[in-house]
Amino acid sequence: MALGNKDIFEPVVGNLFRFRCHKEIPCFTECCADLKLILTPYDILRIKKRLGLRSEAFLDRYTDMTMEDHGRFPLVLLRMNEDEKRRCPFVTPEGCSIYEDRPGACRIYPIGRAALKLEGEKNVREKFFVVTESHCLGFEEDKEWTIEEWMASEGVDEYNAMNDQWMEIITSQKGLGAQENLTRKIQMFYLASYNLDRFRDFIFGSRFFRLFNIEDDLKEKLASDDAALMKFGFDWLKFSLFGEKTLEIRQGSRNED
Ligand code: SF4
Ligand code: SF4
Repeated sequence: MALGNKDIFEPVVGNLFRFRCHKEIPCFTECCADLKLILTPYDILRIKKRLGLRSEAFLDRYTDMTMEDHGRFPLVLLRMNEDEKRRCPFVTPEGCSIYEDRPGACRIYPIGRAALKLEGEKNVREKFFVVTESHCLGFEEDKEWTIEEWMASEGVDEYNAMNDQWMEIITSQKGLGAQENLTRKIQMFYLASYNLDRFRDFIFGSRFFRLFNIEDDLKEKLASDDAALMKFGFDWLKFSLFGEKTLEIRQGSRNED
């Protein structure tokens, strides 16, 4: 999801590719600029925690919202600095200052992954390709990887597992219902996908738990566990956007108040 301007996409021949990135390479950190870097919910969760920020402060300081690349749902882009090279706000001469929590797109490079989860299918369909950037000298290095080795070494699998349910939502072909509810639904999508701390305020500060059957131990978890809250948010989005039965309405709750 981080795209430079001169990327070339090539098939992965025989599941193998050659690549090594390290501090001594002349192009070190050249790639951390002028990116169209789309952040996923799990990227935001990790970075805002790393920076010790609430999600709304992180979104405000570091991101821009776009509807450009997606017809229905807003996407969040990491805002590049306004310097000549449009550098990433987290790049330093020593490398990435948030390395352990860098976005999935930075982890997976130079591999690109196209993923699709069809309704009724348990597993995600995946296709991989090599993204070659002209300034990247890593391809001239002498280290060979399989796709699986690369994913495991860069921690990509964890990021994919965390985001696949969200990918399912943003690629869903299901209708969003009546036009008059559309703005509210898009706002809900933004809240539950990206603004996790506000989403927590919303569910704990409203009638939410009176309206839905939520187990006490899950409710307790949602109060402090960001990853659990994010996954719950995906269930909530499937319920509220598409009317899927991912949450159970409490008997008689419609007659309350
Ligand atoms: S080798 Fe490629 S990925 Fe590594 S610093 Fe250079 S341009 Fe970036
Ligand atoms: S987040 Fe880190 S790895 Fe990704 S572009 Fe910025 S500095 Fe580079």
